[in-house]
Amino acid sequence: MFVQIGRNDEFIKFDYPRPDPGGEEGKNHVHKANVYDVDGYKTTQELKPPPAENNYGVELKPPPAENNYGVYAIDTESVHTKKGLEVCKVTVIDINCKVVYDEYCLPTSDIIDYNTYWSGIKKENLHDVTKTFAELRDDLLAIFNRDTILVGHGLNHDLMVLKILHTKIIDTVMLYSHPLGLPRRRSLKDIASSELQREIQVGDIYRKCLSKVLSEAQLRDLDYARPDPERELGRVCLYGDHHGFKQGYCRNCCRPFDTSFANRSPCDFHLERSRKMRGVQMPYGCCGRSFGSKGCQAVSTHVHKENLYLDTNGFKVTPQLKTPHDGSYGVYALDTESVHTTKGIEVCKVTVLDTNCRVVYDQFCLPTNEIVDYNTIFSGIRKEDLNGVTKTFEDVRNDLLELFNRDTILVGHSLFNDLNLLKIVHSNVIDTAVLYPHPRGLPLKRSLKDIALTELNRNIQSGGGHDSKEDAEVTMKLLLRKL
Ligand SMILES: [Zn+2]
Ligand SMILES: [Zn+2]
Repeated sequence: MFVQIGRNDEFIKFDYPRPDPGGEEGKNHVHKANVYDVDGYKTTQELKPPPAENNYGVELKPPPAENNYGVYAIDTESVHTKKGLEVCKVTVIDINCKVVYDEYCLPTSDIIDYNTYWSGIKKENLHDVTKTFAELRDDLLAIFNRDTILVGHGLNHDLMVLKILHTKIIDTVMLYSHPLGLPRRRSLKDIASSELQREIQVGDIYRKCLSKVLSEAQLRDLDYARPDPERELGRVCLYGDHHGFKQGYCRNCCRPFDTSFANRSPCDFHLERSRKMRGVQMPYGCCGRSFGSKGCQAVSTHVHKENLYLDTNGFKVTPQLKTPHDGSYGVYALDTESVHTTKGIEVCKVTVLDTNCRVVYDQFCLPTNEIVDYNTIFSGIRKEDLNGVTKTFEDVRNDLLELFNRDTILVGHSLFNDLNLLKIVHSNVIDTAVLYPHPRGLPLKRSLKDIALTELNRNIQSGGGHDSKEDAEVTMKLLLRKL
């Protein structure tokens, strides 16, 4: 193993605190002397057999038989105090990544700023903490000895705020050096991403996402369900103009029909419109047939989605959560697929992905009313997909309300569709229809298919309808591109 041991020039180059050659006890030269005071350091102790007459004044432990003095990774988080920057959390893990030590401590002077953006520390975290800095450091000096190998990223900083002098260091800044050399350093996030294919410091992603979240005014304009201030619990208001919605008409062919489904008649329609150029109606984009011709798609009944705009009862609000330790309440992409029922349109599949596009949730559920059309052309859902499905709409919604909280950021394309059909009121939303606006502005929106093609060079929804996992993945990637 590559161990940085004791080369003084390297320690100085990497800004590690070194014992003061002048020899004054507890005083050390450090490069950031203007930021950190240099007094009061303690040195990790040598393990050696206790002398026959123990007159060291400290308890000395014998070295381990197998000559293994321990290898630990250490990381600290700090807050800003009147004194400068002080440590208030330390985590130590062993070579099996088992947590050996994970404690908060109180800084020695008044906190000016919790440094939450970088540290993830919030006021609540220190609420019940009684451990002092001195106690925490003594704990560490009981775990580490002079010959312990400590691993960290920019570990000089951690040791400086801990005021611990230690010599056997492996610093991942040196192990994975910047191609252009010092003083440039690769961030731990960057190294983890390229070497381990692992996204870390997701709290950073969360914080970056906050600037993309829709405002209350945007949520209203875009038809997101908002709690009704006047009415009883569960009732919502839709303030938008329901762009393109006409009551009593088929959503596919735009002809009027009996929306109660008492009398069903077959529907034919085109997937794309016929555009007008210089006063002439062009052929349909989907099939090239002339304007007014019979639809290239045929389904057994006309369908509607009036409930999307008219059913404003029985909503639930995402619950409030205690502050998470890493400052991230989660960022997820959400997409649903729906079928047509006697009620209108209902969710029957939900997919949730995390910021690594890993599937967090992917379930079918049974709609609450009789299915009149599987909507396969758009949803990709087939009758056989629901064979053996027992989860109800309510089950799925409860699962989601466990997964999401009030401060979770949800990303999706025209996510009001998904959330309103799920009957979930949520306010931290990023809408890719807003992130990648139509050149002529709202209420026009670019389709997800179009954005995926031009921004990600990816052809989605190309056959057999939508795939909620693919759509969710595309929205997450489109979001990450904008951060
Ligand atoms: Zn057509
Ligand atoms: Zn129709």
